[in-house]
Amino acid sequence: MCGIVGYIGKSKASPILIKGLSKLEYRGYDSAGIATIEDDKICHIKNKGRVKELENSNKLENLKGTIGIAHTRWATHGKPSSINAHPHLDSHENFAVVHNGIIENYRELREFLINAGYTFNSETDSEIIPNLIDYYYSKETSNDKFLNAVHNAEKDLKGSYALAILSKFDPNKIIVIKKDSPLVIGTKDNEKYIASDINAILEYTNDIFILKDGDLAYISENKIDFYNNNLNLVNRTPEKITWDAKASDKGDFEDFMLKEIYEQPVSIRETIGTRIVPNKPCDFSDINITKKYLSDISRIYIIACGTAMHAGISVKPIFERLTNIPVEVDIASEFRYRDPLIDEHTLIICISQSGETADTIAALKNAKTCGSKTIAISNVIGSSITREADFTLYTHAGPEIAVASTKAYTAQITLLVLLAIHFAEVLELPKNEIINNLKEELLEIPSKISIILENTDIIKKFAKKIHKETDIFFVGRGIDYATAMESSLKLKEISYIHSDSYQSGELKHGPIALIEDDVTVIGIITDRRLIDKSISNLQEVISRGAKTLIVTNQEIDTKLFPNVFSIPKVHPLISPLVSIVPLQLLSYYVAKEKNLDVDKPRNLAKSVTVE
Ligand code: GLU
Repeated sequence: MCGIVGYIGKSKASPILIKGLSKLEYRGYDSAGIATIEDDKICHIKNKGRVKELENSNKLENLKGTIGIAHTRWATHGKPSSINAHPHLDSHENFAVVHNGIIENYRELREFLINAGYTFNSETDSEIIPNLIDYYYSKETSNDKFLNAVHNAEKDLKGSYALAILSKFDPNKIIVIKKDSPLVIGTKDNEKYIASDINAILEYTNDIFILKDGDLAYISENKIDFYNNNLNLVNRTPEKITWDAKASDKGDFEDFMLKEIYEQPVSIRETIGTRIVPNKPCDFSDINITKKYLSDISRIYIIACGTAMHAGISVKPIFERLTNIPVEVDIASEFRYRDPLIDEHTLIICISQSGETADTIAALKNAKTCGSKTIAISNVIGSSITREADFTLYTHAGPEIAVASTKAYTAQITLLVLLAIHFAEVLELPKNEIINNLKEELLEIPSKISIILENTDIIKKFAKKIHKETDIFFVGRGIDYATAMESSLKLKEISYIHSDSYQSGELKHGPIALIEDDVTVIGIITDRRLIDKSISNLQEVISRGAKTLIVTNQEIDTKLFPNVFSIPKVHPLISPLVSIVPLQLLSYYVAKEKNLDVDKPRNLAKSVTVE
């Protein structure tokens, strides 16, 4: 989950590495460190806390080398501390390693290395790696000792890893390897850049090698040799990445999260792209789903984690309504271990913003072994999930930096809505009226979101009112329940206020016992057919002293409910695209009232590459 950066070239490495780390900090931020080589010696600094602290360290000035590696950590083994921070060096300080992932067999390797005379300082799993490389290096007799030592060490590792490795014996080389954790290399003339994520190096180059599992790259300033698992040289070509480097800057916004909330009108337009074609079926020529195949499908599974899973819940109704195929939405970490009843008649749709979510990738791999076809929905070109799935659809939402997902969520819903329409068109079901209506409505969503974004005073005031609370409830019926779940998650993630979401009708079956004077209940009402029932449920909590906020596109009696946030009317099947926006803003403003770091909430990281 951490961020890795590396540089080799003519410039001083440390400023480039620090800048790269600050772009990757969303991936992990409990400690950070950097290592360079000068005068054939590895020099390093590590700190508990944020990259800023590393940047302010007076020791940084001393790192003068033009080759280096750096890391921002999301601890899995050992608490956040400067000793546990990366880079880790071996006992003889010959090698420095930054590691993203988990070495599952580190205990036995540590035991083995202790018996071989190595000593350990940290509690991490990662520290065995430089020591193992040193161990094999000391035994190596070939010409390329560094390369072979890394290759031999890798054979012993079980688990997931992206590694960048420095050797004091080869002070002009970096070796990187990867398995189940992302890593890219950017190339520009006589400079090479390494990163966990394209964003960190996009300002230097658009020519990016996206490493595959099993790849080893042997990097010098003017050359990269790629090797496969058997240490045979392989050919790799860089991809031209068209993302704008500015897209990962905050611009005039105080936080990335706010910027990304405000980007939604544009990102949704990007997701729609050219898929809606006037008087023609939607364009999904990038996947090949035939009428024969779809007619044979008995069930669709949408599998994801967290916010992406809520995107799945939001689109279940539209898929079922348009395709007549039953849809199940499942949490990836559960699905992968519960032997689901799936086969070649099941279609699996996996959603992961980063495309690196370990649980989702594992679930997708399991599904494939059962004969199911898989579609990956991701925001990141070339990410791991896209290499595993039969088909990939990109959301094109642009880089999302804030840990709490906003624009990726609405982009996922938009893409899935289009996919549901595409399936209905492929199946040639007599649904033209609703399909045409949905297409028109979808094209209007960006301007409807813009209206919300221009009028946020009620939300800001309500955030002031509730920011000291300890429990908040979100309720909704039907599709609004998906929005309630996502709103509750958003609030928890960044404001640390405990919150729960319920189907409004469920309140009386238990949760209403928690309602007393001044408890906040936030209701979402967008479906005309359910308005009376939803209102009755909210009246029940008002009678027990609750204060409410209602997000709605229906007429609500403000005498009964003083806090109403009106949103534009939209087809009920796609209302989550609009109703979530004020609630994303509510979480944001509550967290701001509490003076919290909105973009980097405690204990969380953006791409969850571990189980
Ligand atoms: N497992 C390693 C650790 O706990 C790496 C974690 C990361 O990916 O940041 O130090």
